[in-house]
Amino acid sequence: MADCDLCGVGRPTLCPLKVHVQRFYSAYPKGMWMNLCEECTEATHDSFQLNSEKSGNKCQLCGKKGEQLYAVEIRIPDFSEPYYKEDERALCADCLQAGEDAYNRRQKEKAEEHEH
Ligand SMILES: [Zn+2]
Ligand SMILES: [Zn+2]
Repeated sequence: MADCDLCGVGRPTLCPLKVHVQRFYSAYPKGMWMNLCEECTEATHDSFQLNSEKSGNKCQLCGKKGEQLYAVEIRIPDFSEPYYKEDERALCADCLQAGEDAYNRRQKEKAEEHEH
């Protein structure tokens, strides 16, 4: 079990995605792997379609500054009713695209699991 890099929640299933993290650029010039939980890939997928712009100065996944950001609505599990808290993250277009790719890979994986 590892923690999702977007909502910070530990989940059994995480979807890897490659993110270009500016401050680690010298160590990982081709991008580094991060993990999103399934819920967050769904959230980025929705956001990808909605394209709702969000103000802010920094992408909350890769840390890039000065980019157009997009709102991603996430749900963090909570112990009391309704058992989740809604929260919002701001992602740059690159990270949103990476999340969308991770979502599509995950859907394909799930479809293949059903075939067996
Ligand atoms: Zn998550
Ligand atoms: Zn980003």
